Amino acid sequence: MSAIDADAVAFQDRPISQLLVKVVTRCNIDCSYCYWFRDAAVYAKPKLLSEEVAQQLLLRIEEHLTRYSFHDFPIVLHGGEPLLWGTTNFHRFAGACASISSRTGTEMPIAVTTNGVLIDDEWLDCFEAHNISVAISLDGPAHIHDAHRRTFQGTGTHAAVERAARMLVSRDIGVSALAVCNPAYPPSQYVEFFAEHGIAYYDIMIPDATVDEKPPSIAAFYNGLFDLWLEANRSKPTVNIRIISDMIAAMLANNSPTEGVGYRPVELCTIMTDGTVEAHDVLRIAGDGLTQTTFNIFEHAIDEVRNEPTWKVARDASINLCEKCRQCKFMNACGGGYLPHRFSRKNGYDNPSVYCDDLYAMFENVQSVLERHLYVSKPGGERVNVRDALARA
Ligand code: SF4
Repeated sequence: MSAIDADAVAFQDRPISQLLVKVVTRCNIDCSYCYWFRDAAVYAKPKLLSEEVAQQLLLRIEEHLTRYSFHDFPIVLHGGEPLLWGTTNFHRFAGACASISSRTGTEMPIAVTTNGVLIDDEWLDCFEAHNISVAISLDGPAHIHDAHRRTFQGTGTHAAVERAARMLVSRDIGVSALAVCNPAYPPSQYVEFFAEHGIAYYDIMIPDATVDEKPPSIAAFYNGLFDLWLEANRSKPTVNIRIISDMIAAMLANNSPTEGVGYRPVELCTIMTDGTVEAHDVLRIAGDGLTQTTFNIFEHAIDEVRNEPTWKVARDASINLCEKCRQCKFMNACGGGYLPHRFSRKNGYDNPSVYCDDLYAMFENVQSVLERHLYVSKPGGERVNVRDALARA
């Protein structure tokens, strides 16, 4: 058995280690690139997660944490726009999670991903009271953000979201920003915007596309971003750009902490507002129905979804890479790209990423920069550049 196949077998046995909970299926704005509403099945679900579903979910979470001894079990509250669920529901749910955490000894960090439009002082109090970390969707400056993130009346949302970002930064709340890369603009416009707003942790995500599409090249954008990140952190760590730190971790450790980069299994499942359990919600990018299962938390334990055919297709695809990726020198670091970006109508997920050429160029750039900047300490204290050490070996 090859090392890759051995890894794939080991990955099969890992339990669900985090939950994405869809507390709301609708949104209060109308972003042009949103994957969620590409799938008409979303409208068949209840608008809000009910109290009955929330109580059953909490029972299932406690059952899961009692069975497996996780150090931590992250929960992400998501939508649609999750703040439409209201502060009362957030208080109740987060309070119940804290009780489960104290009974099971498992930390349960709660995060929410929001468009920010509804954020006010009451929400800030709620986030602060329960230590809920907030990822706010903000595409940098107004001319980039408002091109895609608009209201149903067609007006830009940047002013409201920028105001929300300033409010979050002013309080004791873990704040990050999630932007989507628009390679038509230089990365410096994003980096300068977030620096000006005191946001030190953010991601600039690769735009969603499948292999059946022809998205613009992103390598020049991300290589430029890498240079800016390096410059900003040259003397001391000041900014953390998730995709950059993930790529470095993936290159150095042959693994990545998040699912978008690196060779690792999809271990997430999505709880819908009616209690159904789905595969990773972003697979909607690939088309209708690719996330739906017949499982729900009233009849099934959380981990049972690992035996559900639709979920297994996604998990197996995440670890069984196509032949080109298996031969690639960046296989472990790249992992074939983000799973939805590997989908085609013809081959399913059995493709390299639609961004393969870009990813290869990005990892080559990271590798060459790391080789120039990384040093190892030899016995006796001498510091040797990694590339020189490898050349001498
Ligand atoms: S760079 Fe391309 S071939 Fe290599 S692992 Fe990534 S997607 Fe596969």
